[in-house]
Amino acid sequence: MPSIRNHKGRFSRTKSVKKITKLILDRVQQKHKNNNRVSDHSYATFCNPVTPTENITASTLTDDDLTYIPPDLVPLSHCRLVTELDTLANQLKSCRECTIPLHLHDAKGVRCYGLTGIVYIICKASSCQTLNRIKLGKVHFGREKKGVGIFYVNLKAATGMIHAGIGETQLNNFLSSLNVHCIDAKTLKIRENEAGSVLENQAIMSQQRHLQMEILNSTTEDQTDSTSGICISTDTCWQKKGSGRSYNSLSGVSTLIGKTTGKVVNHKVRISSCRICERAKGRGILPRQHKCRKNWSGWQRSDLEKLFIQKMVPQSKKLSNLGSSQANESFNNLIALKAPKTKHFSTSASFKLQSQLSVLQKNEGYNYISELNTSIGLSPGNETLSRGNKLNKKREGNKNISKSKQGKKQRKFLKKKRLQKTTVAEVKEGRTYHSSIGLEDFATIDIEEIPAIPEAETFTNIDDAPIVCFDLETTGLSRYSDITQIAACTKDSSFSRYIFPDQQISREASEITKITVVGQKMYYKGNAVDYKHKHEGMTDFLTYLSNFTDKPVLVGHNIKRFDCHVLFHTLKSMNMYSELCANELAFSPSYPQLYQMQLTNLKTFEKLVQSKCLSKAMALKTAKSNLGLQHFQLAAQRNNMAGIKALMTEKSSTWVVRVTSNKQIIQRVYEYLFSHK
Ligand SMILES: [Zn+2]
Ligand SMILES: [Zn+2]
Repeated sequence: MPSIRNHKGRFSRTKSVKKITKLILDRVQQKHKNNNRVSDHSYATFCNPVTPTENITASTLTDDDLTYIPPDLVPLSHCRLVTELDTLANQLKSCRECTIPLHLHDAKGVRCYGLTGIVYIICKASSCQTLNRIKLGKVHFGREKKGVGIFYVNLKAATGMIHAGIGETQLNNFLSSLNVHCIDAKTLKIRENEAGSVLENQAIMSQQRHLQMEILNSTTEDQTDSTSGICISTDTCWQKKGSGRSYNSLSGVSTLIGKTTGKVVNHKVRISSCRICERAKGRGILPRQHKCRKNWSGWQRSDLEKLFIQKMVPQSKKLSNLGSSQANESFNNLIALKAPKTKHFSTSASFKLQSQLSVLQKNEGYNYISELNTSIGLSPGNETLSRGNKLNKKREGNKNISKSKQGKKQRKFLKKKRLQKTTVAEVKEGRTYHSSIGLEDFATIDIEEIPAIPEAETFTNIDDAPIVCFDLETTGLSRYSDITQIAACTKDSSFSRYIFPDQQISREASEITKITVVGQKMYYKGNAVDYKHKHEGMTDFLTYLSNFTDKPVLVGHNIKRFDCHVLFHTLKSMNMYSELCANELAFSPSYPQLYQMQLTNLKTFEKLVQSKCLSKAMALKTAKSNLGLQHFQLAAQRNNMAGIKALMTEKSSTWVVRVTSNKQIIQRVYEYLFSHK
């Protein structure tokens, strides 16, 4: 017997200790009694659907209940509530005692019950003044007709939650962001259990029906040998993913799927841990009475594998050569949708329900939720039905498309296109991303860009193009210095941006440009100016250039020696060079440079032409597409022959091949490069 001290610190007398201990024990027993009632009831006896019109007379309630206004009423404006308008209108028709209609704006307040609630209205007639309790939704009562009953909508919320593959937290997050009243976790669990037993029966019945169908199909298919049995594929999935070291899970689902029907004919859930039992074990006490879900002990995977080997291998003659278990894979996906692998459902009682709902969805289509509602005693729901039909139609359509010849062709084509795109990008840009790239020295990373296909318009008449004068101010006189200001103008527009440099501004540059930087501020002639960061400023400049209807020509003072190089370097360091190429036509003094570049490219192919790897015409074409031998070398370095192939067969925006798609030429170029490494 525990020792109990009174408020003065002295030990109490035995009599009072006995009294208190008895009180505590009684309370614990009472609690267990309540738990029993909820956990092991049979739904069929518990649920006794009553039509809502009968509820209104409320003959089962005492007078005391009818006049009592609970203290936790909230005003009608407190939150949104799910309301069945039909039920509401019926009850508002007249007062409980007299025949005067009720009005919602006379309401004292509303008491929330999960998604819905009860509105308290006092009759307006001066002689009546009766309190009316208006339920916002249909209810049914349990075995004892006590309390306000169970709202249908809360029961539907519990099944809907499992159907949508979310838990209590997600459901309440969703509801609260709509400002709909949330459901208490405990209530939700009770409602879930209520639906659970019906669900289990539904799933078993569905499985048996499809098993019968499977048997029927296989006997009619193969009448000569009726003893051969039915063909079934099997697979097991785990609730959680393995960690890489071990692939154990606390729970798993095994399914048998018929070959001819493609439906689940049996499934078993194995759960090796129970939350209530575990918690009690941790505290060193006996677990309270509960419906234990644990039906397996030991590590899931290894044990199941052993079981499989023991039972199946001696009968391996019976294992039929089925080919694929794709139906099982798709079912595993379905379970993963209902019980996401990133969440822990293994010790949750919901896991069994989730797998049963998956079976129903697989076997009966999306309308299973309406059928479930009907068998619980709820209305199937018009919206639920139409949504189910819509999803069924969509699933059927998708299935037909993916089965058709055209669908298969399309899938193949898209895959090929995607693959080619990535190969070309990788060859042209180098590997710009791989693990721990951030730790490497910037200079050692191979990111030299192979020039893009020149746009056909590059060679249009230069005389029509608008002329843009531009000038740069920089941090120093080096070609690798940072830009501090970029300005450009035409006859009728101008552009100027101060750009915050990464490097320090040298004294000479500062004297010429009158730009200084102190801390995070930029000054021009001592006045603070607004500035942009490098990327933003350059983007603005490119946008300014792209606003011209014709591609502009950039001109400026001394740009060939200095400004162009700084601009190129800056843009290249940000991978924006190709955007500049797309936007402007040419640098006025450098227009011949393009020709020069192509000529240099052509010269690099001299040896190839001499050794008859490339024809003269082909060499010219390659040079004109901005490619030189060094680019082929780079491509070969990055991806061997596939790199060269990707580069030569790259398609422009008008679907013209860049150089050639002739396999022999590509092979010859690769062999030449290989021998001259
Ligand atoms: Zn009245
Ligand atoms: Zn348990």
